[in-house]
Amino acid sequence: MSKKNLFIIMMATVLAFSNQVVAMTENESFNYSVDKFADIEILRYRVPDFEKLSLKQKELIYFLNQAALEGRDILYDQNNKYNLTVRRTLETMYVEFKDDRKSADFQSLTAYLKRVWMGNGIHHHYSEDKFVPGFTPEYFINVLHSIEKDKLKDVLAKDETIDDLLQKLLPVIFDPTIYPKRTNQADGVDLIRTSGNNYYGKGITQMEVEDFYANMKIANDPRPISYGLNSKLVKENGKLVEKTYKVGGLYTQAIERIVGWLEKAAMVAENDNQKDVIATLIKFYKTGDLRTYDEYSIKWVQDLASQIDFVNGFTETYGDPLGMKASWESIVNFKNIEATKRTQTISDNAQWFEDNSPIDPQFKKEKVKGVSAKVITVAILAGDCYPATPIGINLPNANWIRAEHGSKSVTIENITEAYDQASLGNGFAEEFMWSNTERERAKKYASLTNNLHTDLHECLGHGSGKLLPGVDPDALKAYGATIEEARADLFGLYYMADNKVVELGLLPDKEAYKSEYYGFLMNGLMTQLTRIQHGKNIEESHMRNRQLIAAWVYEKGEADNVIELKVRDGETFVVVNDYEKVRSLFGQLLTEIQRIRSTGDLDAAKKIVEAYAVKVNPKLHAEVLERYKKLNLAPYRGFVNPVYELVKDASGKITNVKVTYNENYVDQHLRYSKYYSSLPSIN
Ligand code: ZN
Repeated sequence: MSKKNLFIIMMATVLAFSNQVVAMTENESFNYSVDKFADIEILRYRVPDFEKLSLKQKELIYFLNQAALEGRDILYDQNNKYNLTVRRTLETMYVEFKDDRKSADFQSLTAYLKRVWMGNGIHHHYSEDKFVPGFTPEYFINVLHSIEKDKLKDVLAKDETIDDLLQKLLPVIFDPTIYPKRTNQADGVDLIRTSGNNYYGKGITQMEVEDFYANMKIANDPRPISYGLNSKLVKENGKLVEKTYKVGGLYTQAIERIVGWLEKAAMVAENDNQKDVIATLIKFYKTGDLRTYDEYSIKWVQDLASQIDFVNGFTETYGDPLGMKASWESIVNFKNIEATKRTQTISDNAQWFEDNSPIDPQFKKEKVKGVSAKVITVAILAGDCYPATPIGINLPNANWIRAEHGSKSVTIENITEAYDQASLGNGFAEEFMWSNTERERAKKYASLTNNLHTDLHECLGHGSGKLLPGVDPDALKAYGATIEEARADLFGLYYMADNKVVELGLLPDKEAYKSEYYGFLMNGLMTQLTRIQHGKNIEESHMRNRQLIAAWVYEKGEADNVIELKVRDGETFVVVNDYEKVRSLFGQLLTEIQRIRSTGDLDAAKKIVEAYAVKVNPKLHAEVLERYKKLNLAPYRGFVNPVYELVKDASGKITNVKVTYNENYVDQHLRYSKYYSSLPSIN
């Protein structure tokens, strides 16, 4: 529900040459781009002001970082049953292969391994399609047979031969009909059986899952637990049972180590509240009890005083087609105090925004509670936040906790900084924007308006509005995520053009919002298609949301020529003729999307998503891909983390934590696999 994977960044924001750049000049030598392969560019990010933290704070970050890295294997296993086997086999081949490492085949094998790291498994992190290897099964067999069996001991089960391993892996890697998709969202098929992930055991149908959880739910419970969040549902002797992720349960080897580091972190917590937050999380990991998880979430959301904060656990449910099971992720961060003043202004005025929104009054919150907002500097990315990462987070996800206790909302400015810096002058604006007016506006405002849109989306958008009494929060089923993201985006878009935003000093003038509008529409109508293969539909919910909004507004404004798709020299451009009308259309759509959400109108959700968000114009798509290809840019980006080391004196006492930025992509993953890999290959 809550991540804004700001790919707009790729589009308009990229051109931001504003104040951030000035701040960067002292670090001009910092090399943001680390690696490039397939459709991916890997960047690194800086952790400004880490040195200014106290020793105790640095130690806390160090221990939380360790806890973050220990969960890596969990996500691989959640994404697909064979992911750990595939990753370990490929890593062993990469390290041990002695023959011709310069051959095209070996390069392809290396690229495939890099993609597996990027996707935390055999599927693309974004399209969720299974990777197609650029080498043959014969080559794979030959390389594997050239490796000493002893080197593969972490991969091979007891008494297993290399041929047994091949039998297991060849279909998983090479057969396009096996696990073609990680999370299937296509309408009209069994979403559980057609998804390649590992949240549900063999032979379970969507109907069985829906019945299982429908029976578990208590009717009209005002404080429902997050059913199914931390377990795999399997069939044993014909009966469905949950295998809970906890100490002593599924993934215990990794969770025990996470708990071990959290215990060290608790010792150096900044204050008693934070210590209690960590202790409650440990309790949850030990019991797997989802009531304890809610207790932890409430304590976490209430801890606003600490400078250091973290996410560590089973959090987001995008990976489950039914939106119940959560993937493991972690982020460790500290508050960026200066930039936080901006989001503070937004949350201080939350009630005004709610009261003045264009939605039907019966769907408004009488009291918008506890919207806290801060800008953070991330210290480590892990699990489902690595290597691809969101740039904003809003948690917790449980609706009743958000309603009663509020939510914490963050934007990750050192990540957006890395995106911006890596993208300066890459030719994108020259290719896709209509004229210098749009380009100049983007240069002047895009960084600012992008940050503000993220803030409004996260701090206010997701937290605004309410469900009518008795409406099931999951009523919109597979369409829920797209509708929710559209709601948050529209809330932000609508207000960016409001005088209030200028009055509050959040934007400098009434011109700035146009930069965001243009970038958003261009992205939603055209340029986001760069991340989809020709012939495919749009699957991912943030992308669906963006096309939904842009295509709907385009169509509704057609009679008045509000937005045009103009062709110049055979190339298509988005031209916005009337920004004020765009704003009022955003408002109208927000009203309808909020109605759908508040009333749980599944039928309307399905109609609007299927009509605007899913299908792609194949001709325009081909054109966009062609033009984008010329630019030679990677459509997706991931990150490597900095390296943290404890500095100790002769007596073994910790005297400092050193952060360095020199590690490359391959070395980082091989190091993580060596030191933070505790799960068996098959769980
Ligand atoms: Zn969101």
